[in-house]
Amino acid sequence: MPSYVITEKCDGCKGQDKTACMYICPNDLMVLDKDKMKAFNRAPDMCWECMCCVKICPQQAMDVRGYADFVPLGASVVPLRGSEDIMWTIKFRNGVVKRFKFPIRTTAEGSAVPSGGFAEHDDINSAALANEPECIGIGALPTIK
Ligand code: SF4
Ligand code: SF4
Repeated sequence: MPSYVITEKCDGCKGQDKTACMYICPNDLMVLDKDKMKAFNRAPDMCWECMCCVKICPQQAMDVRGYADFVPLGASVVPLRGSEDIMWTIKFRNGVVKRFKFPIRTTAEGSAVPSGGFAEHDDINSAALANEPECIGIGALPTIK
């Protein structure tokens, strides 16, 4: 299920030119209705449910129903982002609550190297991914003889 905005909580990021959810969405789906000062997902069919908007929203005003492959229907999945980690609270429909904490990346914005510093190969016919085999620490990918 695509992302949706809990309108009671959304404050339109206080009218900034670009809201947090607009800034983070890799699909450019989030827009702000400036009359209502509420954001919305303009193309739910295009949402790949990455949850970036859910994680970044300062008001916890965005939600995505958790994938059925890690929580059954009826569960809620709520991230809470801190400066060094992110806490995921999973509430199952039978009332059980579980929390998982993970460290977050602390690379300064704009300084990440997409290829991780490895050379990128552009052989479209190769079975290797862009910077394999170097990035997985082997000299050559195994092949079937
Ligand atoms: S990031 Fe959250 S508070 Fe800001 S506009 Fe989007 S939904 Fe609203
Ligand atoms: S879940 Fe991901 S793709 Fe969908 S609106 Fe949020 S940031 Fe965009």
